[in-house]
Amino acid sequence: MPARKAPSKKPSFKACRDCGALNSREASICSNCGSSNLLENWEGMIIILSEDSILASKLGINKPIAKAIRVAGKIIVK
Ligand SMILES: [Zn+2]
Repeated sequence: MPARKAPSKKPSFKACRDCGALNSREASICSNCGSSNLLENWEGMIIILSEDSILASKLGINKPIAKAIRVAGKIIVK
């Protein structure tokens, strides 16, 4: 059997459908809110490096976090 190539388009994160936080693919619950609603069907990404940033305050985010912009068609970050 020929060696199978690793799928290259698989996302390396799962996004929380409730809060949009990106979690590792191995995670079963969201590290941000504890939801088990983690999906690989997400698009876009924002990364908040500092809770003091303008972007964080505009989005009402108070800690460094990576979030998906859209999860399963639902817009998380407007
Ligand atoms: Zn969450």
